[in-house]
Amino acid sequence: MPRTFHVIGAGLAGLSAAVRLAGAGYAVTVHEAAPHAGGRCRSYYDQTLGMVIDNGNHLVLSGNRATLDYLRTIGSADRLVGPPTAAVDFVDLATGQRWTLRPNDGRLPWWIFDAGRRIPGTVSFDYLPAARLMWASASQRIDAVLSCRGRVYERLLHPFLLAALNTEPPAASAALAGAVIRETLAAGGAACRPLIARDGLGAALIDPALRVLERQHGTICFGHRLRAVGIEGDRIESLDFGEDSVPLGPQDAAVLAVPPPVAAALVPELSAPTEFRAIVNAHFRLAPPADLPPLIGVVNGTVEWIFSFPDRISVTISGADRLLDAPREELAGLIWREVSQVAKLAEPMPPWQIVRERRATFAATPEQDARRPGPRTPWKNLALAGDWTATGLPATIEGAIRSGNLAAETIAV
Ligand SMILES: Cc1cc2nc3c(=O)[nH]c(=O)nc-3n(C[C@H](O)[C@H](O)[C@H](O)COP(=O)(O)OP(=O)(O)OC[C@H]3O[C@@H](n4cnc5c(N)ncnc54)[C@H](O)[C@@H]3O)c2cc1C
Repeated sequence: MPRTFHVIGAGLAGLSAAVRLAGAGYAVTVHEAAPHAGGRCRSYYDQTLGMVIDNGNHLVLSGNRATLDYLRTIGSADRLVGPPTAAVDFVDLATGQRWTLRPNDGRLPWWIFDAGRRIPGTVSFDYLPAARLMWASASQRIDAVLSCRGRVYERLLHPFLLAALNTEPPAASAALAGAVIRETLAAGGAACRPLIARDGLGAALIDPALRVLERQHGTICFGHRLRAVGIEGDRIESLDFGEDSVPLGPQDAAVLAVPPPVAAALVPELSAPTEFRAIVNAHFRLAPPADLPPLIGVVNGTVEWIFSFPDRISVTISGADRLLDAPREELAGLIWREVSQVAKLAEPMPPWQIVRERRATFAATPEQDARRPGPRTPWKNLALAGDWTATGLPATIEGAIRSGNLAAETIAV
């Protein structure tokens, strides 16, 4: 019998595991509960706007090496676009001040000595304390390592870390923040180019992976929700999908790449994160002004990041639990006023959509980080994947893809 690998969950963790296993010549079957792939990173047609949008704006940095490798493998490296060198525009809504942060390409950060590249009103010495995060211990919060005050914190570290950790930075894990800084800001501007899926997440990260799997004779079963795992000794012997059950041969194995509450219900005594944080996205259907940059960081507003696409302006607000119960119209109005201020628009609010992802990511606190399991389980032929497993990174595309790769390597030995 050929060896078959079953991958449960077609989010990025499951897809990266499936692509890696299929690429190594194994037979792969992906089981996905939803009628579509992508999980928390997907595109869909929105009736209100009459266009395809993403469930949330996703930003990747050029230092996200596993993501870029994955894109090359599935043949869509050109689908994430960004400036040739690191440059991120910011606006402070309280003062109206605008600036562009321009880290130099190499590891030696001489940009902090150049007033034209750093944040206005800062001196080079102000940037040094951030380096302490890279040596923080797993139990430390950011506010135990760093003063969460001052211009560099308010205008760079707060927006950058809030976006990366999706958790209010003072209470977030300093070690996870340090890991992000080590692989991006501390690695130089070449690792900090902001990359965006201009034609949508589906076209860049999901659909090409499905095509690769199909070409490699992989099977993808949508609407196939795993209900229980049959365990016998130190192996799993069946996957129970309710209406059908799939027996596993002696060589077969599975990667469980589902969200933490689902994994915890399927796997006995699994330690997994139990707290989550929301992300709110707003989308406005209009052609952005020609001079609006593709990405702007907003300081001192409700809005945090503004993404400009050819046919719409979209906004991201991280750690957004406080906005979950806000009336939709009020929230859209508030966000539109800030977008109008930044983009210098005078027109009335265009057609809009608000998307609230309640459990966008696990809360990146030291306590929740300590609950993340590695890819191995007590069962020899079952591995875990997902952005919530112990990747050493917060819940990101990069973490999800690395976890999928690692689970595939763990299980295929
Ligand atoms: C709004 C938003 C904005 C974000 N912004 C960014 C960003 O800018 N940059 C970044 O790097 N990351 C960002 N992220 C995080 C990123 O999307 C996630 O880290 C990543 O998509 C997680 O992938 P995953 O495969 O681990 O999990 P998921 O995408 O959750 O995949 C799990 C899959 O398992 C399926 N499933 C669940 N139960 C079962 C079952 N019983 N049987 C079979 N299948 C099942 C689900 O349907 C789903 O498809 C954002 C997330 C959100 C929600």
